[in-house]
Parts: sequence; structure tokens; C-alpha cells
Amino acid sequence: MKVIYFDNNATTKVADEVFEAMRPYLCDLYGNPSSMHTFGGQVGVKIREAREQVANLLGCHPGEIVFTSCGTESDSAAIHGTLAAVPHKRKVITTRVEHPAVLTVCRDLENRGYEVIELGVDKQGRLDLDELEADLDDDTALVSIMSANNETGTVFPTERIAQMVTDRGIPFHTDAVQIVGKVPLKLSDSPINLLSLSGHKLHAPKGVGVLYIKKGTRLAPFLLGGHQESGRRAGTENVAGIVAIGKACELAADGMEDENTRVKALRDKLEAGILKSCPDSSINGDPDHRLPNTTNISFEYIEGEAILLMLDQFGICASSGSACTSGSLEPSHVLRAMGVPFTAAHGSIRYSLSRYNTEEEVDFTIEKMPQIIERLRALSPFVGQASA
Ligand code: PLP
Repeated sequence: MKVIYFDNNATTKVADEVFEAMRPYLCDLYGNPSSMHTFGGQVGVKIREAREQVANLLGCHPGEIVFTSCGTESDSAAIHGTLAAVPHKRKVITTRVEHPAVLTVCRDLENRGYEVIELGVDKQGRLDLDELEADLDDDTALVSIMSANNETGTVFPTERIAQMVTDRGIPFHTDAVQIVGKVPLKLSDSPINLLSLSGHKLHAPKGVGVLYIKKGTRLAPFLLGGHQESGRRAGTENVAGIVAIGKACELAADGMEDENTRVKALRDKLEAGILKSCPDSSINGDPDHRLPNTTNISFEYIEGEAILLMLDQFGICASSGSACTSGSLEPSHVLRAMGVPFTAAHGSIRYSLSRYNTEEEVDFTIEKMPQIIERLRALSPFVGQASA
């Protein structure tokens, strides 16, 4: 059965060009970039090139790029590294809709005596910037707010937020894992101090990420050992992964505009087709400020997991806004923070597209969805009950 992959916010296919670029560094060119010999030295040259490719996509200086193992590591390093650099400050501000890579770290800080403010969002997933402004004070060590939400695709006004925060002399970190490659960035003109990204969300493999550290930002080293990554992140480099993320960034920079126009048109067609043919369905997230590839749709009275299982029978991969924890289906923390009613939050499905999706795949899914929803509603004990 052909797989129709609409789960690109979870992970993406490695682009053929990326695989070809990294292959020699897995097989033949296995030297250590720190070695004195030419065999290792040529690998070092390639890492420099990858750093430039990433910097080019982010619109910053290559010296501001640190390679990591994933988005989670970049987020953790940004938060812990900043707090270690300003140990006398004890307050961190974040949001209730962050990925666990930020939220769990912040909640752990709270257990360790930090004051942690989690800003709420409205029904469309938008932040109240006045609330943020009111919370900034001299004890604030860091503000960490994502650029785009992985579940709903809602895009926050990151530049405005960063300006507001850094005007007060407070460092600002953004988890940009979902937005990099989808929206043009020029970090050299931006007040953002720290930005995380992850290779496997933009057609590079798993196991490589980046932390952008604006020149002059105070950040403690996060892995001590050798001198790699300017002493900030020791450990022999994941050369193939680094070459891969460099190539993926080059591809994203070259094709961004065309690709996103095409992907957005497919997403819009999929969304409109489903909303039209499936009664009691609605979009979660800010329809005016959303990633071009993401739609999160609630289907009242049925469980997302059941929809996913039926989609799976047709080879369609998506994801749901609820997670099966200890036998009960808990709606996601993001949808809960948005106040999405229980019956809608349970039946939410995220479709996240990429450059590899086709119109045929969208048409096929639009055709199958009403059948799936109708069958599940016929079995649902909730049909006819009011939203709670
Ligand atoms: N931040 C966001 C917004 C994400 O969507 C993800 C992954 O889903 C991460 C961080 C973690 O990235 P990684 O899987 O590279 O650790």
C-alpha cells in the first residue's frame, strides 16, 4: 500500500540530495575533523561549509551556529546555559503551549526553586503580549517562547516579542523547530538571542540540530570536554549529520518561496475539502497566522485515535491531539490551554504536509475522510451530547 505521509511536523523524509551529500561521510570520509592529517582536515572543511549553509538560511554569521544532536538539546542548552550565566536571576517566562522540550525543562526548574511563568493563550492559540510585558522584571533571567506551535501551526509574533523582551535587557530564546525553512529569517537584524532548530524537521536525518547564539549573548558551555564547537559543545562532531543539515538548509533557502506556496495550496485544499464534507468539524489555531503546511481539525464526538487507526488502513499518516496515557485519552496540553471543548479536543487530527505531498494524495484523503467520520459517529456514544 502506498503511504500518504501527512505527519511532517513529527518528522520528515530525508531529501535525496541530503542523503547523497552525507553518504561519503558515513562510508569513505570517516576522518576526525580535529585530526592534523589531510584525510581528517577535508572533513573539517565540509563542516565549515555546512555552518555557512545554515547561517545563510538563518541570515546570521557562521560563528553564531553551534551544532547539537537535536531540537531538544538546543532548547535545553539555551535554557540551562542562560541560567548558568546569570545565577542571581531566578525567574523564567515561557508559555503553556511550548513543546515538552521547553515546558518540561521549565517545570523542572520550578521544582528547583525558580519562579516560572507560563503565559496562557486565547481560543485561537494567541498570546496576550500585555500579559508578557507585565511579567518582565529585573529578576527575569530568560524568556523562552516558541516561534510556531507544532500542534496547531499557530505562528507567534516572535520579532515583536523579542524586541519587547530584549529592550528590557532580558535574553530571549525561541524554539523555531517548526518554522525554520518555512518562513524567511534574518537573524542579523533580529533581537533574538537564541534560536533552536532540528534537522529531522527539514528533510535532514534525526540526530542533528542547531543552536543559534547571537554574538555577545551570555551562555555557559553545555557539554564540557574537547574544543569542538568553540568549546561550547564538546564531543567529536556528527559529521554526516552536520553535512546533511547544511545541505537541507541550502535546499530550504533555495526553494522556500515556491515550495511554501505549493504546500500551502495543498494544505488549504485539504482543509477546505474536509471542513466541507465533514459536519461538526472546525480548525484549531490562528487561521491568519499559521505555518503553511499545518492544519489541526477537530471532529466533534469521536476520538482522534480512532480516526488515526482508520486513516492508517488507507495508508494515510497523520497525528492526533490526544495522547493515550495510563489508559485514558488525555487531550493535548496545547488544545487544553486554548480552551478547546472536551468533545472537540478529543477528536482532533493534525495533518502536516511537506514538499513531497501531491494533489492526488490530498484528493484521496478528502474522499476518505467523510466515510471515516460517518462510520465512527455512527458508533459514538457522544453524538447528540452538547460540548462540555
Ligand atoms: N520543539 C518543537 C516545537 C518540536 O516540534 C519538536 C519535535 O517535535 C522539538 C522541539 C524537539 O525536537 P527533536 O525531536 O529534534 O528533539
